Amino acid sequence: MNLHPLEGHDEARDGVAAALDRGCLPQALLLHGPPGVGKQRFGLWLAQLLLCQESSRAGPCQGCQGCRLALRVEHPDLHWYFPVKKPPSKGSRDRDDEALEDARTSRIAELREEPLQSSHSEEPLGLHLGTVRNLRRRASSRPAMASRQVFLIADAEELVAQDASPEAANALLKLLEEPPEGTWFILTSAEPGRLLPTIRSRTSSLHLPSLPTQVVADFLVRQLDVAPEEARKAARLSSGAIGRAMGFLADGDGDGPLEALRKESFRLLRDALSPQPGHRFSRALQYRPSGARGLRELLMGLEIWLRDLGAAASGAADALLNQEAGDWLARTAREQRIHPARVARGMQAVQDARAQAAGNVNPQLLLSNLLIRLHRILVAT
Ligand SMILES: [Zn+2]
Repeated sequence: MNLHPLEGHDEARDGVAAALDRGCLPQALLLHGPPGVGKQRFGLWLAQLLLCQESSRAGPCQGCQGCRLALRVEHPDLHWYFPVKKPPSKGSRDRDDEALEDARTSRIAELREEPLQSSHSEEPLGLHLGTVRNLRRRASSRPAMASRQVFLIADAEELVAQDASPEAANALLKLLEEPPEGTWFILTSAEPGRLLPTIRSRTSSLHLPSLPTQVVADFLVRQLDVAPEEARKAARLSSGAIGRAMGFLADGDGDGPLEALRKESFRLLRDALSPQPGHRFSRALQYRPSGARGLRELLMGLEIWLRDLGAAASGAADALLNQEAGDWLARTAREQRIHPARVARGMQAVQDARAQAAGNVNPQLLLSNLLIRLHRILVAT
């Protein structure tokens, strides 16, 4: 199955195609932008451009053998790396590295079958040191078919977070510093601030912005046969990111993963505002006592609810992302005398908690502290 067409990002496409045409496309690039905005799809498009035998300033030709193989993610010189779940240890470093490579190739096989997948993942994933060792081994050999080879390294910030030592990142650093001839490295990150500064400084960065909501909605209707109204709602909630919008679509009979989190984050807001302190503690205790990294998406949802509460308190009902809750938000803002300036402070508190969630903190403690703090900030006494 071919990859779906790359949507939007025309300016970035024109920029890289022109740079390649002039022979000055940097060999180490960092694509950054909001989650789910299409950074990996753009990276795969760029890989196709580099491997196309007839590429021009207009982009890849779409018809040559290089293009056809790249579009099916079967080109032998296109190497796609992304965070995976660490397989159980096999007892030796070589066998562990092989297991990581197996995890990567079987995931690519899945993506070939079903290329359109939500950008949201529930599991803790990492770019492990063994993966970087595999990548370095691959990068030291010549391209198999084309005159170039391309390494796409997705979610590059996960290089640091998982291994608790900068070793994985440093191993990659040497390659980025002096890429072998004809070898391109394309890194993607939604959180470039979490990358090692040395990686940031060795890559040329290219920002991919959010897409217009209408573009996202049209894509969902066209590619996934979503009903127009559901597509519009998912597009609005995604803030212009196709990969996130897909997470808001119904999943069989149930909610998509991001829709479930949106409802869960609403319950956090409700309990933060509740006059009953007990609600805040019992909510926090519903979470496991470890694995705070999984809370980051939930807290992002809470931040959006707060933003909407602030909009409702300012009388800007048109700006709501959670439009169906407009009445509840307006009534709550009125009854609880919510002040927009206090909401802004509340959003800062959530951002602080999100930063803490990246570390090794107890989720129950983090959430109970946050809900208590939000109550003090938001509810006028
Ligand atoms: Zn081509």
